[in-house]
Amino acid sequence: MTTATAGRDAGAELVAEGGEWRSPLYADALQQFGRAADALGLDDESRVRLREPRRSLTVNFGVRMDDGIVRSFTGYRVQHTLTMGPTKGGFRYAPHVSLGECAALAMSMTWKCALLRLPYGGAKGGVRCDPSALSVAELERVTRRYATELAPLVGPDTDVPAPDVGTGAREMGWFMDTISQRLGRPVPSVVTGKPVELGGTAARHAATGLGVVDVIDALLERRGEPLSGCRVVVQGLGNVGAVAAQRLAELGALVVGVSDVDGGLARATGIDVRAVLRWKAAHGGVDGFPHADPVARDAVLELPCDVLVPAAVERQIVAGNAERLACRIVVEAANGPTTAEADAILAERGIEVVPDVLANAGGVAASYFEWVMGQQHYSWDPDELRRRLREQLRTATAEVIAAAERLCCDLRTAAVASAVEHVARAGLSRGLHP
Ligand code: GLU
Repeated sequence: MTTATAGRDAGAELVAEGGEWRSPLYADALQQFGRAADALGLDDESRVRLREPRRSLTVNFGVRMDDGIVRSFTGYRVQHTLTMGPTKGGFRYAPHVSLGECAALAMSMTWKCALLRLPYGGAKGGVRCDPSALSVAELERVTRRYATELAPLVGPDTDVPAPDVGTGAREMGWFMDTISQRLGRPVPSVVTGKPVELGGTAARHAATGLGVVDVIDALLERRGEPLSGCRVVVQGLGNVGAVAAQRLAELGALVVGVSDVDGGLARATGIDVRAVLRWKAAHGGVDGFPHADPVARDAVLELPCDVLVPAAVERQIVAGNAERLACRIVVEAANGPTTAEADAILAERGIEVVPDVLANAGGVAASYFEWVMGQQHYSWDPDELRRRLREQLRTATAEVIAAAERLCCDLRTAAVASAVEHVARAGLSRGLHP
């Protein structure tokens, strides 16, 4: 770890100092932390202890491809803080995965868990690859090698991975099996988001998307606005966006725009989301769907609406398009979809941003319940689980709104501040060892 000097602008200093942290996403994460710390008047010791990831691991490993050639893959795992309990966070498969990205997202996982009062620190990992270019057998070998490399770090009481971009229940099953084979006994709680037959919960898959809708609902309710009739645009129809768009439509919202990696659709009178998802399943994408107007993928973000839900990947709302957004509220279903520069533009324009650490926290909340059930060898009723998830997100939304009023700040700063305060207190109570 580098020596930190408390009180200076965390983002600027660290970017200047260390090559390995030079990711724009990490600079954004540090800026958010700095802003929340300032709003709280956070003590210098806590700033120093929370501004850098506690541990990071980079691994390079060979995997034999189907054609017999061995190819090298690079993977990462970053643990942001060990203060709160085991670390928790997904691992992703994507071509842009980097140490800086994992470090930023690990920090954000700490705030997300703390905001929901889950007994975890944040972590994130991933393998730099294009999963769509790998066969299932190759993906399995990549996952098993990655799990083997991470074996010294992970475990039900140390670090608990989960699905993220490009990974899902299938990868969690392989990961869990690899760790279990090494130890010679089943270790289901080493991951969450597992297949149901391995101890996963049916609720986990849809939890992030449903949680996004719970947060939108709670926010609108506080403002005295009905969700029914609200015009919504959802960018990204993956695990999170597809569930959120469908649920929003079920609750009477008008989904006026959707997009996936290939293209976008718009229809001012509302899109039939189920029909789009059926089309996408049959044709591989939304392109060509006959009952809406085709629009360019990125133009979807600029469609007039009440609520814009970026549910794709990070850094989608940037300085270049923030001026053109035509929504009243942005609800960050993806992790880090808004850059710090864009955030400032949106604030100036009076567009409210519901931050990722609140909006997409339903996923890790469901993971927590899966982990608890695994540790207890007991299974709860799915309706009970869904009710608890909803309550947890409504409580967190109320907490963030109250913190924004108390600290006179935007919702992102309020959410991070509420989380930072909780983690900082725990850190000071534990003290430093040695
Ligand atoms: N990858 C998800 C997230 O970013 C879930 C993490 C988890 O369930 O541990 O929140």
